Amino acid sequence: MRTRLENLDGLALCYEKGQSPAFLAGQAMDQAPVLRQAYLDMEGGRIVDFGPMNALDRSQDPQALRVIDGQGRWALPAFIDSHTHLVYAHERSGEFEQRMRGATYAEIAAAGGGILHSAQALEAMPEDALLQGLLKRLNQARNTGTAVVEIKSGYGLTLEAELKMLRVIQRAKTHSRQPLFATFLGAHAVPARHAGNTDAYFHEVLTDMLPRVAAEGLADFVDLFCEEHYFRPDQLRALADAAHSYGLPLKAHVNQFTSLGGIQAAIASGALSVDHLEVLTDQDLADLAAAWTGQTGPMPVALPGCSLFLQIPYTPGRRIIDAGLPLAIASDCNPGSAPSANLALAWALSCHQMKLTPMEALVGLTLNGAAALGASDRMGSIQRGKEAHVILTKPISSLASLPYHFGENLVEHTFVFGQ
Ligand SMILES: [Zn+2]
Repeated sequence: MRTRLENLDGLALCYEKGQSPAFLAGQAMDQAPVLRQAYLDMEGGRIVDFGPMNALDRSQDPQALRVIDGQGRWALPAFIDSHTHLVYAHERSGEFEQRMRGATYAEIAAAGGGILHSAQALEAMPEDALLQGLLKRLNQARNTGTAVVEIKSGYGLTLEAELKMLRVIQRAKTHSRQPLFATFLGAHAVPARHAGNTDAYFHEVLTDMLPRVAAEGLADFVDLFCEEHYFRPDQLRALADAAHSYGLPLKAHVNQFTSLGGIQAAIASGALSVDHLEVLTDQDLADLAAAWTGQTGPMPVALPGCSLFLQIPYTPGRRIIDAGLPLAIASDCNPGSAPSANLALAWALSCHQMKLTPMEALVGLTLNGAAALGASDRMGSIQRGKEAHVILTKPISSLASLPYHFGENLVEHTFVFGQ
């Protein structure tokens, strides 16, 4: 059965076969192609045709065709969330309330909150319950336009609990139609048993955890939180080297609170993406730009929901794009610092707070998000043969209406593999 969206007011990021770039950078991000008065056909989970309405071939057997009238609506590539922590036991709304009453993050952590609290709760929760929570969150994300999700471990911090998190993600792959990517983030925080001894815990990550994760085929990527009091740039290099021998690319949490050489280490390690970047020095930006002169640097990833929730600076997305670089945008959805997987809201924040144009931000949420997962040959734009992950909007007056009406859900349906 073929599904056709017809009379669409607009179709965004559509490319003729073989024409879709792997990512867009700099000024090109604002110039992504748009087709007005268009149709889009999906069949067998793929995009099979699109074009202007006046070129629509109506010879298709009506018995094998499901037509959806897109009058006044747009179709866009569905959002690709390239950075989340969606497997967790409990939300931490109690800590949020404490914070709103004046408690500091350090006070909350000292009272047993923070990542270590999430780790304790996760260890105690059975795998099936974790899976149910994950599937519910994936469905919520889909309701606001997200088709594809990357999910990290990192609330385990023991071999068994990290394996449990990654197994939950693997099981979710068979329960959800949404394409999922798994990232091993054992180096997320130093657990209490190694308090003050980052090296001892990191040794465990490298020699006990990573080989098991790789042997069981549980991860697509590895990641590390490179930050003061967490993990160092030299450890990022060491993790990348070890992961490389298993064919696992590196993604990296860098420059959230401090610039301590994580970007440079990630570049030297051939990282696929550098995520956060709220604190970005001129030297960091220059080094990123130099890395991208060969068109293959690490994808910069902004996480505006985290800035909103923690009240920290936003990633300087405008500066990054003006430097000629690409930018991807993701949710960082997690119970401690960004408890929302709503990328329609991230779109609005990217415009309002990072000063991106609506089209630049859409490219960051779709094609460049796919590139941050090394998957833009399969997804992230509208092209014949690509996987049919597509948003059909509610009636809107322009593409800009989507980030303009912040907090509104203007997604009518998120097609995943054409359904
Ligand atoms: Zn994160």
